Amino acid sequence: QKEKENLEKLQNAIDQLDPKNPDLKKFADLPLCEPTASGLRASHYEVMTDIQRAAIPLALKGRDILGAAKTGSGKTLAFLVPVLEKLYRAQWTEYDGLGALIISPTRELAIQIFEVLRKIGRHHYFSAGLVIGGKSLKEEAERLGRMNILVCTPGRMLQHLDQTANFDVNNLQILVLDEADRIMDMGFQQAVDALIEHLPKSRQTLLFSATQSKRVSDLARLSLKDPEYVSVHEAA
Ligand code: ADP
Ligand code: MG
Repeated sequence: QKEKENLEKLQNAIDQLDPKNPDLKKFADLPLCEPTASGLRASHYEVMTDIQRAAIPLALKGRDILGAAKTGSGKTLAFLVPVLEKLYRAQWTEYDGLGALIISPTRELAIQIFEVLRKIGRHHYFSAGLVIGGKSLKEEAERLGRMNILVCTPGRMLQHLDQTANFDVNNLQILVLDEADRIMDMGFQQAVDALIEHLPKSRQTLLFSATQSKRVSDLARLSLKDPEYVSVHEAA
């Protein structure tokens, strides 16, 4: 079958990918599936930013990432591209449930992430939703079970994990903690700790932050496994 061959090719290319290769400059230089590649092209993303060049190849190879780069450096694509690739390569379907969870400190930031996901994910068939409150818990809960990718705020997500019956997260492949410094500054430490307790241990985790702090490294220690540290503050 052609599709199986393509998947094998893609996986081989990732196995052979040298994540430190300085010639990886454009998204087109990466072993990405066609739906992601064409979604990026259609959104006019061509040359990677420094944090994207540093983080995406490692993330594609399955590594946990602790990424630090200032606001505006392009962290959103640094995690959304690996999320889409991970689920694509796992041939994720509607029957597989929640495959990726993206945690953001605020509703506004969650909505921004969701918009970028819709743009670059337009050629994928994954279902994606926002869990940021504003609707009744029951209304949100009814849609949760059908979602492959969720972008959420910590408090609201924890509410569902604690209260929504039959919401199964045991299949989760990849967790993203975006703006980890702000998550901690806003007092979500306990909520995030509790949230992580609900998730399967065998998963990939990407943690991004604009600044490094004691609290961020505490969260990293709790959530990441043998992480690769990626920081591009000086380089820019
Ligand atoms: P951060 O999360 O690090 O603050 P964002 O992911 O929000 O940064 O990206 C900041 C801006 O840069 C956005 O407008 C985004 O569309 C743009 N951007 C991100 N990556 C690229 C890229 N590779 N090429 C061109 N523009 C990009
Ligand atoms: Mg951001």
